[in-house]
Amino acid sequence: TLSDRLTSVLQNLRGKGKLSDADIDSTAREIRIALLEADVALPVVRAFIAKVKERAKGAEVSEALNPAQQVIKIVNEELVAILGGETRRLNLAKNPPTVLMLAGLQGAGKTTLAGKLALWLKKQGHAPMLVACDLQRPNAVTQLQVVGERAGVQTFAPEPGNGVGDPVDVARRGIAEAKHSQHDIVIVDTAGRLGVDEELMRQAADIRDAVQPDETLFVVDAMIGQDAVTTAEAFRDGVGFTGVVLTKLDGDARGGAALSVREVTGQPILFASNGEKLEDFDLFHPDRMASRILGMGDMLTLIEQAEQAFDQEKAEQAAQKLGSGELTLEDFLEQMLAVRKMGPIGNLLGMLPGAGQMKDQLAQVDDRSLDRLQAIIRGMTPAERADPKIINASRRQRIAKGSGVAVREVNDLVNRFYDAKKMMQQMAGRFGFGGPGGNNR
Ligand code: GDP
Ligand code: MG
Repeated sequence: TLSDRLTSVLQNLRGKGKLSDADIDSTAREIRIALLEADVALPVVRAFIAKVKERAKGAEVSEALNPAQQVIKIVNEELVAILGGETRRLNLAKNPPTVLMLAGLQGAGKTTLAGKLALWLKKQGHAPMLVACDLQRPNAVTQLQVVGERAGVQTFAPEPGNGVGDPVDVARRGIAEAKHSQHDIVIVDTAGRLGVDEELMRQAADIRDAVQPDETLFVVDAMIGQDAVTTAEAFRDGVGFTGVVLTKLDGDARGGAALSVREVTGQPILFASNGEKLEDFDLFHPDRMASRILGMGDMLTLIEQAEQAFDQEKAEQAAQKLGSGELTLEDFLEQMLAVRKMGPIGNLLGMLPGAGQMKDQLAQVDDRSLDRLQAIIRGMTPAERADPKIINASRRQRIAKGSGVAVREVNDLVNRFYDAKKMMQQMAGRFGFGGPGGNNR
C-alpha cells in the first residue's frame, strides 16, 4: 500500500528539521503511483502532485507523526480540499419549482438517481415530481414511473401510444404541471447514449433551454475511470452543468473519477450513489472519498490517533507540572492553544479526581476570551511568563498596551493563573497527584 511504500522511502528521516527535496521527490513518485492505481487521469495526477510538493516543501517535520504519516496527512488534506472541502448544498429556486436536470451517459444511473433524489428530498419535507424526458429507450419512461412509485412521488410522462414524443415538449409541459400541482422541486430525467455524441448533446441542451434548470447535475459512473475526464469535458461544453453526482460507488472503483471530474470541470460533487436501492444515496463526503482514493482509511485513523496521543502526552506533562507547582504562564498558553484542537484543559482536569467544579469554570472560557488571553501571554517576555511574580505595575501597562487590552484584563489573567495554580496544588496534595508537593499514595 501507499503507506508501506512511503514508510520505506522516508525511513531515514527522523526528528526535527524540514522535509528535504530528495525526500519530497521520492514521496511524490509513490503518491503518483497510488493515484494512477486509483484511476485518476494523468494530467490531473500531475497537477495534484505539483500542489502537494509545493506544500510539503515548507513543512516542518512534525513531532507527533513520522514523516510518512506526515506526508500522507498533507496528501489527504490536499485531496479533501480539492474534492470540495465542505459539501455544497443544492441551489433551490427563490420562486418554486426548483428545476433539477440530470445529464450523463446511458447507464450512468440517472433514472435511478431521479428516484433516490426524490425520496431524499421528500424526507426533507419537499414535494418533488419526476419528469420523463428520456423518450429514446422503449422502457425508459416505465422505468422512471416505477422508480417514482417506489419513492412515493408523482411522475409526469407523455401519454403512451403516440409514437416517439418530443422530449423538449414533455419537459415544458412537465414544469407547467409541477407549478399547477404545487410541487416545489422538479427532477428532469434525460436520455443518454453509450458514448458522447452530438445529437445527445443537442437534445440535452434543448431540454436545458426549455426548462432553465436551477441545477444541472452531471451523473457519472465512478467505475468509468480515466474516461471520466473526456466525458465530463464533453458534457461541460455541450450542456454545461453545475454539480456532479458520482454513482456506483458500491463497486470496487477506487474513485479516481471523482478527483478527475472535479479538477477538470471545477464543479462540485454534490451526491454519491452507492447501490441499486433508493436508500443507497448520500451527500458526497470529500474526506471519505479522499481516503478511498488513497486506499488507506486505516492509516488516516492511525494518524489522527497519533496526533491525539501526542496532545494527550503534552496534557499529561502539563498536569505533572501543575501538581508539582512548576506551572508557568508558558504552559498555560500552550494549553490554551491545545484547547482548540481537543479541549485538553477539560481532559486534563478530567484526569484529576474531584476536579469537576473547576472544569465547569474553565468550560466557560469561550473562543474570543481565549484569543485575548493568548494575546496577553504573547505580549509577555519569557521571563515574565516563567515567573509572573515579576510583573509589576509598569510591566502590566506595557503588556496591556502591546496586546491591545485593558490593564485590568492583564491583572485578571495573572490572578486567575495564581488561583488555578493554588487550586491545582491543593488538589494535588489532597489526591496525591504529581511531584514533590504531593504525597503519592
Ligand atoms: P441511466 O441510463 O443513466 O438512466 O441509468 P439507470 O438509472 O438506468 O442505471 C443503469 C443501471 O445501473 C441500472 O441497472 C441501475 O440499477 C444501476 N445503478 C444505478 N446506480 C447504481 C449504483 O449506485 N450502484 C449500483 N450497483 N448500481 C447502480
Ligand atoms: Mg435512464
